[in-house]
Amino acid sequence: MKKLLTIVLLMTTSLAFAYEYQIEKPVLESVSTPGHESITSLALDCLHQSSLSGQKPANCLQGKDIIGAYKSGNSFVVPTISPQKITAEELMDVSSWPDDPTRLGGNIGAVINLFQACNDFWSFLGFKNPYETISGGLACNSHFGLLQFFHAQASSTDEPYLSTKNKVLAWIKFNYSIVRDANLLSEPYCRYFDELKADSGAYEMASAFLPDDHQDLEQCQNNYTLNWIYNSSCESLASDKCESVEDTRTAQITALGAIIHVIQDSYSQSHNQRGSCAEQKNMQPVSKISCLPIEQYYTYNAQDAGKHKDSDVLPITIDASCQTATDAKLPIDDAVTATARVLWYASQGEDASKLMAYLNRAVFSDPYIYADAATQSRPESAAGMCYLPNTADSNVNSQVDFQQRLMGQ
Ligand SMILES: [Zn+2]
Repeated sequence: MKKLLTIVLLMTTSLAFAYEYQIEKPVLESVSTPGHESITSLALDCLHQSSLSGQKPANCLQGKDIIGAYKSGNSFVVPTISPQKITAEELMDVSSWPDDPTRLGGNIGAVINLFQACNDFWSFLGFKNPYETISGGLACNSHFGLLQFFHAQASSTDEPYLSTKNKVLAWIKFNYSIVRDANLLSEPYCRYFDELKADSGAYEMASAFLPDDHQDLEQCQNNYTLNWIYNSSCESLASDKCESVEDTRTAQITALGAIIHVIQDSYSQSHNQRGSCAEQKNMQPVSKISCLPIEQYYTYNAQDAGKHKDSDVLPITIDASCQTATDAKLPIDDAVTATARVLWYASQGEDASKLMAYLNRAVFSDPYIYADAATQSRPESAAGMCYLPNTADSNVNSQVDFQQRLMGQ
């Protein structure tokens, strides 16, 4: 009962809280105080503390049960970025870049009704919507379309679990390669993704940027480089009203921001299922970090937008599982620790294999490889039971049972 009251109180608080990061309504820079920036700030402080003792960051959230708005003043160093020192302000700024990948920023007129703007009036005649092809640009695809893996989500309903997971991990690996080597930014976009398709793990991610049928793609016709992904600053959704930010350092820091963003989003209750939201009162969305493996990826397209954003607000509560995450079977780190570890790998100049091994084990661990979960097949993506436009759902109990099995209860 006490727990219930606490949850109700927290929900009331979060509704009244002025600081929201509405992930799928692009953050207006300098206007909001996004949760991404607070998680990033806590991670920077944890990195700083652990570096004093020469240790890798670990258990950054130990003892905490809530995250409120917070800004760090700590800087850190990445040897492969020039100049090497990156300030907290710079990192906080790029940690929400995937929510506004073309830097629409304060151009409110352009971002209001983004969903309508990304719908083609003629789509009823078979024309593709801008979120169904990369030629529709980054902004539409990031939130509604092919690039939802920017946010640890599936791009459509019924996407296989491993497709989403592969895309998320391939996106992280791609960004880390940019952080490690600025020269990649001048690689030809189409040739690069064409070659990347040969890597089976990266095929689906590369295909989102470069469909097989790409002869007419603007990126190929006009010899875009990989820098295009990071350098757009646009007045509107239309790509002909964009300026190019030709700054290698900005692009590399943005790539680092893209990595920590997708990791942080993977802990949002509305982006995928870590544990079960059925424990929550009346299945109402809450903002909570849970340190359990991802059981199912969600897709924004199938969700109630209002419920989705209710899980992306400050303050964020920390689930008890984050205090017991050292269990060898479920070694999931919390969002702050995972962010700090990414920064640590980058600051140490570690190669991608170590970062990816860590993320595979401690963030995106697949629960279905465990013997007692083997009989449960990996579910395809869906809205998530707490985020359905209609809250009626009959699978609540089976989801709870499955979670209890995972926890060995
Ligand atoms: Zn996001």
